[in-house]
Amino acid sequence: MSSVEFAGEVIPVSVVRSARRRTVGITVKESGEVILRIPPQVSEADALRFAQEKAEWIVRHREKFAARKKQTREYAEGDVIPFFGRELTICRVEGKTLRAELDGDVLRLFAPEGTDAAGFREAVVFLYRREALRLLRPLVASVSEAAGVEPPALRVRLQERKWGCCTPKNGIILNVRLLLAPKIVIRYLVVHEVAHIRFRHHQESFWAEVERLMPEYREAERLIKEEGWQWVF
Ligand SMILES: [Zn+2]
Repeated sequence: MSSVEFAGEVIPVSVVRSARRRTVGITVKESGEVILRIPPQVSEADALRFAQEKAEWIVRHREKFAARKKQTREYAEGDVIPFFGRELTICRVEGKTLRAELDGDVLRLFAPEGTDAAGFREAVVFLYRREALRLLRPLVASVSEAAGVEPPALRVRLQERKWGCCTPKNGIILNVRLLLAPKIVIRYLVVHEVAHIRFRHHQESFWAEVERLMPEYREAERLIKEEGWQWVF
């Protein structure tokens, strides 16, 4: 694997040849992976030299993502967690078995003494997944009607990066982390995946359909890009 170096640190770089590009492109993914995209007329050596010149920028981005990763919830008494456009306050109760329960604006966490943040997290994700199905189904149904398609089967999963996808059998899978996002984002992701039922690509006709269903969708995209990393359990 190719690499660049910065202040003694060797950073691996994945090289991708791209017939459609005209310029060299560098992407730092949230995982820290660095991708160097090279157009046909540029040699790999030249592209790597270019990447080496950008080493400081690459390192800065990797450090920013690494700092984000460390941010995790503690599920302490009184902590606040978003839930489908509103906020819940965590209330911890000692109990025999681990479980999370919704009670108005309170998220009650029952757990045996000594339960750690990872344990609470598991119980909360379980509750959010169940609630996501209940809360998102009516939204999927109304967006499907507006899009003129049969309401797809809905599944909810916890995923690190992907917010949603549309399966080959016209089902949609949404990330449970969605429930931590503002409502405009929740609606947008439903619109995006439902629009894929008829338009299985990201070409102009797809975006025209997204815009027809949700004219303000760009604001949701901006929020995902800038704030999406915070919507974690
Ligand atoms: Zn898409």
